[in-house]
Amino acid sequence: MFKRSLTTAFVLFVSVSFFVLFALLSWGQYHALKSLGINDTMVTIKAVLGGSKSRLEAAFLNDDILALEREVTAIDDLADVSASAVIDAQGVVRLSSSGFSNGEAVKLQLDQIKKNYLSQGHSSSEPILTHNPITDKIIAYLPLVIPTLENQSESRQVGLLYVEWDLTGSNRMVNHTLSKNMTIMAVLVVGGILVLVVGFRKTVVAPLNNLKNKANRIADGTEAISFGVEGVAEFGVLSQSLNRMNLTLNKSLQEVKLSEQRWLFALEGAGDGVQDWNLVTDECYFSDQVKVLLGLPDVTEVGWDEWMNAIQMSDREYVERKIQRHLKGLSEVCRVEYNVDLEGGDRHTILMRGRVVEWLSNGKPSRFVATHTDITVRRLMDDALRSSEEKYRKLFEMAQEGIWLLDSEGNTVLVNGAMAAMLGHLREEMVGSRFSDYVEPGQRHLFADLLSRDDMAALNQVDVEFVSKGGRRVHASLNSAPLYNDDGQNIGIILGVMDITQRKLAAEKIKQQALYDELTNLPNRRMLNELLGQEQARAVRHKHCGALLFLDLDHFKNVNDSLGHPIGDGLLVSIGERLKTVIREEDTLARLGGDEFVVLLPELSKDERKAASLAHSVAVKIQDVLQHSFNVSGHKLNVSCSIGIALYPLDQETIHDIMKHADAAMYRAKEDGRGTIRVFSKVMHEEIEQNLGLQMMLPQALEQEQFSLFFQPQFNHKNQIIGAEVLLRWFEPNLGFVRPDHFIRAAEECGQIIPLGDWVIKKSCEQLRQWQNDGLPSTFNRLAINISPRQFMLEDFAQRVLGFVEQAGLSPSQIELEITEGMLLNRLDLVVEKMQLLHKMGFYMALDDFGTGYSSLSYLSTLPLHKLKIDQAFVRDIDRDKNDRVIVETIISMAQHLDMDVIAEGVEEKHQLDFLQQKGCFQFQGYYFSKPIPADEFYSDWISVQSRSSSV
Ligand code: C2E
Ligand code: MG
Ligand code: MG
Repeated sequence: MFKRSLTTAFVLFVSVSFFVLFALLSWGQYHALKSLGINDTMVTIKAVLGGSKSRLEAAFLNDDILALEREVTAIDDLADVSASAVIDAQGVVRLSSSGFSNGEAVKLQLDQIKKNYLSQGHSSSEPILTHNPITDKIIAYLPLVIPTLENQSESRQVGLLYVEWDLTGSNRMVNHTLSKNMTIMAVLVVGGILVLVVGFRKTVVAPLNNLKNKANRIADGTEAISFGVEGVAEFGVLSQSLNRMNLTLNKSLQEVKLSEQRWLFALEGAGDGVQDWNLVTDECYFSDQVKVLLGLPDVTEVGWDEWMNAIQMSDREYVERKIQRHLKGLSEVCRVEYNVDLEGGDRHTILMRGRVVEWLSNGKPSRFVATHTDITVRRLMDDALRSSEEKYRKLFEMAQEGIWLLDSEGNTVLVNGAMAAMLGHLREEMVGSRFSDYVEPGQRHLFADLLSRDDMAALNQVDVEFVSKGGRRVHASLNSAPLYNDDGQNIGIILGVMDITQRKLAAEKIKQQALYDELTNLPNRRMLNELLGQEQARAVRHKHCGALLFLDLDHFKNVNDSLGHPIGDGLLVSIGERLKTVIREEDTLARLGGDEFVVLLPELSKDERKAASLAHSVAVKIQDVLQHSFNVSGHKLNVSCSIGIALYPLDQETIHDIMKHADAAMYRAKEDGRGTIRVFSKVMHEEIEQNLGLQMMLPQALEQEQFSLFFQPQFNHKNQIIGAEVLLRWFEPNLGFVRPDHFIRAAEECGQIIPLGDWVIKKSCEQLRQWQNDGLPSTFNRLAINISPRQFMLEDFAQRVLGFVEQAGLSPSQIELEITEGMLLNRLDLVVEKMQLLHKMGFYMALDDFGTGYSSLSYLSTLPLHKLKIDQAFVRDIDRDKNDRVIVETIISMAQHLDMDVIAEGVEEKHQLDFLQQKGCFQFQGYYFSKPIPADEFYSDWISVQSRSSSV
């Protein structure tokens, strides 16, 4: 509506407003005139009725019927009266005009409203007038004094004069007045509207048109930029505002133009060309730089077609399609790359970035602006970068080492497959998590400030312990390098992570192996030495006593030999476990190898005696606990052990001294019978001292030929000499004769047994040769020589001994080699091999001191042995000890079964000889026959005598 015309709108608005006003005024006036008419009528009625009342009452009083009828008819004849009646106090119509039946109750002839007023009228002293708006009549009830018909004696009765007054006449007057007034008002309204419209056009529409025309002229450029100040005051203000706006717009326009120029300049300067396409006129502008990019600098006009033609053929459709897509609103920015072949064959890649910047009112694009950039170099660099990135990415993926990238907050940005696998996670799981989440909780504090460290080198070659997803410990070595952005800001860190778990475990294992026994996991000799060294020093400092217990299992060898090494190992492990139960936490249980266990009891007491007694009670406990049988892989095994105890510290004692003392005590315990405990004593100490002294003296003694050979004859049951045992004697000028078991042990320990043993064999062979030359009894079979373990284990022992035998011109069968059971304890395979070799060479092999060692009987049959020598310890107590008798009997019968000779040594008494013979032993050696004696004595006492008797 407003679009059509401001004047029309104004006229309509004013007309509607006036019409509404006019209607309201008319309505008000009508009502005012109406109520005025009613009031006037009522005044008239009151005046009329006032005169009739007295006349009617007088007529009633006089009972003047004619006067009554005249009066009523006079009222009824009034112009606007439509009905009238005189009604007595009983409500009966006494006289009436038309509409009532006289003599009947008025109540039956009137409606409800009239009835109400009827009763009021009877009781009132004034006339009652009411206007009925439905019938538009005025009803009057005028009280009258009327005598009733029934009761003549009642002088005054109140009745009514009822009159209905029609307002038609009055209404006609009202309508007439109203239509006259309305006509005048309508004329005035139309006039007013005309005046308003004229004024409106002059003050509003005309200046507006003026402004519009000026604005158009300014837009067309046909008028200066100023708006004139015209019309009402508001238009003056509006003109000023428009002037200001116009000025500002002009300025902005200038600036836009300037900035457009600068922008163009900047773009061109940066090597970018500009395209401005007016889609309405289809004019396409390209800046000079585009011409350069397209290789068309000399072409004056470059439009759409020239541009398209410059683009490489295969790219044209693609470029057009991309632009069309953008124009259809399918892309935010039209970004497309196209190639241009320049003169000389150079191919350049141009990047076009454009967008619609203006639209028509119907939403269609009207202007498209784009820049064109030569990205040939960038593309080449991108390709190069992509290829180098590809290389690094492959390297990253293929690296065996874990690679971990953290941002400056310490959050994981990226890990390679090796890193994720190292920790048992998926790569995605690790992204975003913190480095320290994976570090073993105890080490986390070391890596909490990982990125705040200034000195990144501190993170090089650092070892860290991770916890994998499955809870496994992963040891790793870290290398790190900080990462910086182009501004030199630290943006994170790259970590190289090497899994060194295997290396660590191996090192730990090596350490474990170096310090712990592999089988039982108990500390080994090295660790014991270390601990003992520390405890010894502490004991000296705090002046208290500790003890070292050496345990040696009795008969352990039997287990290995009879049941095999796995069972033996199982037993050792079980023994270790059981031993742990009787020692304190601060005590150390170690295994030195074989069946040797050691217990270190530190800080027992300040009092040496008390410490000794405590150590002894621990030893007893150990023996007790070992008494209960073991069950190893279904085998029930019983063990006992000998224990040697050494107390420390003593003056100037080294840990080797303590070990030696404990060993000596244990050795003594073994000597004194199995299952015993011995505490190292002064005597033992002296023995050790003595042993050391002997070791020192031995080389010189050999040099000075202080040694000699004694011979002890051996006999058969016919009392015939069958051979002799060579026994070494050492006469030291200061000490006299040194006990063979003492110096043999010393020689064994210091290695002198080798030259000494050679000397014995050589001399023995020479002696036998000499006797042989001099004539031996025919019963004399061979000479028995004792061989020490160390001697026997010499690699070329067999050749050596054969050499001496052959040198002396003897046969190996004339020599009996005595080895001891102890020799069979270690490397049985080698021992057997050597025995077989000697056996093959023809030597006679005897097992000395049989029954004292720990050899199991089972292996005897496998050894190339000719003879068993029953140890003198069994022979000695043969008549007193039943056990010894049983053992001797067993050995004899065993030898018989194995088809071996058996000889009893240490035969001193006749009854011993008898017992032995009775049991089937027919070879003897002992004081009963002869003590060991020097060669010449032996010759004279036994050889010459026997050879004589044998020859006789
Ligand atoms: P063995 O080989 O068992 O020698 C027997 C030992 O019993 C000898 O002690 C001998 O004197 C002693 N004996 C012999 N009959 C009786 C007897 O009726 N009653 C008593 N009470 N003892 C008797 P000896 O000579 O003191 O030798 C001790 C040990 O020294 C030898 O025991 C042997 O093991 C070792 N031995 C001696 N000479 C040599 C040697 O040249 N080389 C090596 N390796 N060991 C030797
Ligand atoms: Mg012997
Ligand atoms: Mg012997």
